[in-house]
Amino acid sequence: MPQSSAHSPTTKPSGKVEKSPTQKALEKLGLKRDIDLALHLPLRYEDETRITKLDEAREGDHLQIEGAVTACEVSYRPRRQLIVTVNDGTDTCTLRFFNFYPSQQKALAVGNRIRARGEVKGGFIGWTMLHPAFRAAGGDLPTALTPIYPTVAGLSQPVLRKAVQAGLARAELSDTFAPGDLDTISSHIGHQPLWTLRQALSFLHHPTPDVSLETLSDHSHPAWQRLKAEELLAQQLSQLQSRRERARLRAPRLTMLADEPQEGDSEPITPVLLPLYTELLAKLPFALTAAQQRVCAEVARDLARPVPMHRLLQGDVGSGKTVVAALAATICIDTGWQCALMAPTEILAEQHFRKLLSWLEPLGVTTAWLTGNQKAKERREALAMIESGEAQLVVGTHAVIQDKVHFNNLALAIIDEQHRFGVAQRLALRNKLQHDGMEPHMLMMTATPIPRTLAMSYYADLDVSTIDELPPGRTPIITKVVHDSRRDEVVERIRGQISQGRQVYWVCPLIEESEALDLTNATETHAGLSAALQGECVPGGEAAQVGLLHSRMPADQKKAVMAAFKDGHMAVLVSTTVIEVGVDVPNASLMVIEHAERFGLSQLHQLRGRVGRGSSASACVLLYSTGDAPRLGEIARARLKAMVETHDGFEIARRDLDIRGPGEFLGSRQSGEAMLRFADLNRDTVLLDWARREAPMLLDQHPVLAARHVARWLGGKSEFLKA
Ligand code: ADP
Ligand code: MG
Repeated sequence: MPQSSAHSPTTKPSGKVEKSPTQKALEKLGLKRDIDLALHLPLRYEDETRITKLDEAREGDHLQIEGAVTACEVSYRPRRQLIVTVNDGTDTCTLRFFNFYPSQQKALAVGNRIRARGEVKGGFIGWTMLHPAFRAAGGDLPTALTPIYPTVAGLSQPVLRKAVQAGLARAELSDTFAPGDLDTISSHIGHQPLWTLRQALSFLHHPTPDVSLETLSDHSHPAWQRLKAEELLAQQLSQLQSRRERARLRAPRLTMLADEPQEGDSEPITPVLLPLYTELLAKLPFALTAAQQRVCAEVARDLARPVPMHRLLQGDVGSGKTVVAALAATICIDTGWQCALMAPTEILAEQHFRKLLSWLEPLGVTTAWLTGNQKAKERREALAMIESGEAQLVVGTHAVIQDKVHFNNLALAIIDEQHRFGVAQRLALRNKLQHDGMEPHMLMMTATPIPRTLAMSYYADLDVSTIDELPPGRTPIITKVVHDSRRDEVVERIRGQISQGRQVYWVCPLIEESEALDLTNATETHAGLSAALQGECVPGGEAAQVGLLHSRMPADQKKAVMAAFKDGHMAVLVSTTVIEVGVDVPNASLMVIEHAERFGLSQLHQLRGRVGRGSSASACVLLYSTGDAPRLGEIARARLKAMVETHDGFEIARRDLDIRGPGEFLGSRQSGEAMLRFADLNRDTVLLDWARREAPMLLDQHPVLAARHVARWLGGKSEFLKA
């Protein structure tokens, strides 16, 4: 629906439209339409509605006083400051300013009557306020609390306040909830009557002074309930819309079955008729876990339908996602179509390539390898094989989605560590099937399990398969948090592992990125460890090798180092986070993470997942340092604690969400603006449940309301939520 522009640009005589600094600042905040301004809600409020006499003040009160300035002077001790004394007839208060302009000094001249607002301290030795807000006395007191809005540099609160007021007055705020909803939802939220959107917004921009500020700041006030319900409903509607749009798309059916499985039909499909699938299963050196079997059946069912699969395969590190991908690929190849697998790093892609080659080449499958830095000739050959259809499987990095890559008949695209790819990259892969308007099936894999509430909201248009069981025979990893001053003991432990023929990872946070950060970089650590381990031997009698791997090394050098570690020739691998995803060396039994306090929780968990892959007991040492601080920050402590307390990827993910909030969790999938601003997925589960039930009803029975609701809340952003 059309929305009038919140702030009309001025047209210069030349005809060029020039934006004012205010407009630019508002746009920076994403405030383009009236409704955007109306939905720009205060961070907090200040109470200017009353004046408190100093003889009624208590230590630490936030209050407003009014009185005459009796002294105003600049003092230079202990540092330059403006000291102003105000007398309100009951007592005096000293105002201190460390930064001040001559204009402020003038406004605070002796004899002037002013109002000052701030926290009062030190009643016993005389009241003081540090950097209070102030203005000339006089004029009516406002009747509502003063909102303080989130803003950007160059946009003052009064200017922003005026813009928001105007936007709120102009915005179209008619109800978009279906008739009757107000009752169903209020029964969900403890039978409080639900406010209308207009009521809620008017109140939140200008709350009356009697409101409990706590219910405003913790978003439990009925006005907030309304806004959170609105926001969650918009999100659910947009996800449902994209899900339905996808259901209208076509995809090749990858099956030998004549009958299509229907959506919602839960009959498992075993792709028994498919020769490659059957043969690969028979030749695997292990039996699939029950979870892998279930997930394979879910994927096979989707592939048998003429609608593109859009499935996220989540499973903890080491849960065995690769073999599921390989089996999905055989279904695709069996039915005469091409399959592509894309991974975010060259090391990871190559590891997939080797693994898949070792499984599928003996079965007669032709696989092509594509990466950014392969030789021109090799690349030309790969491209030709892909275009002719000779290559049945293509494995590679981002190179797979480049324009030059023309598939003969791509029907299944598998993306490993999908959160590392952006929306545009996934879309590019979807567009690689040029065949009668069809789209390929997509299987996205992730080792960062998505907490249930997040899956329900952000990934509601995805089907999720979960491998919730590790292959048998793994021994649990012991995790220890060790202060950096005990490095020597850690080195001793490494010696022990080496002498037993085991291998060790040592991970450093970054490489020469910033000297200011003063992190021990991988190069230095490598030198130090090499010296410390000089003369150590592996059981065969050879000298133990310490290798170095970091992101700035040329690709072939990286490859050589990785190969040496994989083949067991290298005892210790010092590395930056390039090994973060997917590396599989079962003989590695010790992981040391240096400056563990600098890593994110799911990153730590993924790194730890590199050990404990074989049957021997493994350990993870989280080395931390506090720098100049006496102790670790709260967040870093929470992360390290979580690492010691749990190994369960889902629990880790849940705590990570707690610590970081969904913004960072979702990474490149969502930009900040598409995030939930008001609702909290952990706390507002009741409203989320309501919105999930409500969205299909609204879309089916009141499509006009639904469309208006999504436009109001998401504007142009809903497209973005679809990829
Ligand atoms: P991830 O899910 O982290 O990608 P991988 O696919 O790399 O895990 O599997 C980890 C290791 O477990 C590999 O060495 C793989 O061959 C092995 N594996 C996978 N499934 C099973 C199973 N059912 N039984 C035993 N080992 C398995
Ligand atoms: Mg993997």
